Amino acid sequence: MIDSPTMTINGVGATAEKTLAVINPAKAEPFIVVPDCSAAQLDDAIRAARSAQQAWAARPVEERKQAVVSLAAILIDNIEELQRLLTAEQGKTLADAAGEITYAAYWFQSATNLDLPVEIVEDLPERRTETHRVPLGVVGAILPWNYPVLLLAWKMVPGLVAGNCMVIKPSPFTPVTTLRIGELMRDALPAGVINIVSGGDGLGQWMTEHRGIDKISFTGSSATGKRIVKSAADSMKRVTLEMGGNDAAIVFPDVDIPAVAEGLFWGAFSNSGQVCVAAKRIYVHEDIYDAFREAFIDYAGTIKIGDGAQQGVRLGPIQNKPQFDRVRDLIDDSRALGQTIRTVGDVAAGPGYFIPLTIIDNPPDDSRIVAEEPFGPVVPLMKFSNEDDVIRRANDSPFGLAGSVWSADLNRAAAVARKLECGTVWINGIHDSPIDSPIAGHKQSGLGVENGQHGLLEYTNAQTLILCRPAVAP
Ligand code: NAD
Repeated sequence: MIDSPTMTINGVGATAEKTLAVINPAKAEPFIVVPDCSAAQLDDAIRAARSAQQAWAARPVEERKQAVVSLAAILIDNIEELQRLLTAEQGKTLADAAGEITYAAYWFQSATNLDLPVEIVEDLPERRTETHRVPLGVVGAILPWNYPVLLLAWKMVPGLVAGNCMVIKPSPFTPVTTLRIGELMRDALPAGVINIVSGGDGLGQWMTEHRGIDKISFTGSSATGKRIVKSAADSMKRVTLEMGGNDAAIVFPDVDIPAVAEGLFWGAFSNSGQVCVAAKRIYVHEDIYDAFREAFIDYAGTIKIGDGAQQGVRLGPIQNKPQFDRVRDLIDDSRALGQTIRTVGDVAAGPGYFIPLTIIDNPPDDSRIVAEEPFGPVVPLMKFSNEDDVIRRANDSPFGLAGSVWSADLNRAAAVARKLECGTVWINGIHDSPIDSPIAGHKQSGLGVENGQHGLLEYTNAQTLILCRPAVAP
């Protein structure tokens, strides 16, 4: 076991009476314990955020942006330690962990792109009307376990630039790197501006019910998102929810088959399939279906799966036991229905949560593996013959997070993309999210917008000033 990181409450470290063990998924054994925040400690964190907030909001926005930008260097200066912690708790490879931390640092640097302009609605001789953006107060950020550091940045940057203070709760499966980042950033911001608490799902629920929190910014499953909407309703908290997806990828017959097979392999299996915007249903035109499937499987055969801390490994384990069981259950369901299953890759022997890369060959649309979000290294490939029909099938989902269309004919691909019912559509690409582009899940994948200028405004209230000019005495 290594030293436990502390929570950050009002600018100082805090342990707790109880602790939570954190498991290394490559070994299926605990490697560290973290504090399990009590209700009284959560009260302290929220009180600290409330008392710091007015002074933080009173700083000029340019000063807040510079303070946020300065946090990037803390990540980069400590990247070796942070990447080891992230790999140990999340399972991703050391290279992917470094990539995530670097990308998060880039996100902190991007604070300079954001702005809170005053909108002049009208400017008449008798009256001027302007709309300002004011902070909400205290933001509660609740995070999942697939990209703990990047998603932390996605919430901290707009939250702080907008002038809010924050109480941040990482997933109980991956709290370690986030707590350590709190320790490293503690002195870079005034006490109380960020507070980082660790605990189970119950801690998240306390946050959503707490009257001292004005907004919940949540990333996680749709099931939890629905619970959050209900419990936030009483205090009319603002919510931004980024949730699950079951993204369709549509592959037309005019593509370069090996190149697109490789692109979609990573689209489906990056981070061992634990990506909100992974390609989770791949529809391939019947003219190239067999060739595409074999190219996809051939490429999969070149990828080494194992402990992310080991050299040469490209994909790690499933992050936690409940998710491991869920993915295995979906594969077992396909097996029980007699569907054709192609399994690729030797998984490390031992107790870790490893599942080989699994391709389900043309299952029916109503199978669970097509209808549900697997969030693991398994993907169904399905045949299509007709454009309108594949668009209908792609849209036949309660989710609407993202999607992708692959074709040499950009006009055709764009026309298909515009008909997909989802928040982001890539054409001949997947996953890249330019820093200023909004992410807004449609249907049950999201509520509100994250990132870019649209995302920033979600951390504010509009305040309209109507200035009536006094009549000039004759
Ligand atoms: P999860 O919903 O189980 O947990 C997410 C967070 O919510 C955790 O911190 C958890 O402790 C907390 N939580 C659980 N119950 C709660 C409650 N009742 N009230 C308040 N908080 C509660 O999700 P997960 O399993 O950690 O993450 C996987 C899911 O996240 C997948 O569905 C994935 O698609 C989604 N995801 C979405 C995006 C996106 O941007 N749309 C990004 C990453 C992951």
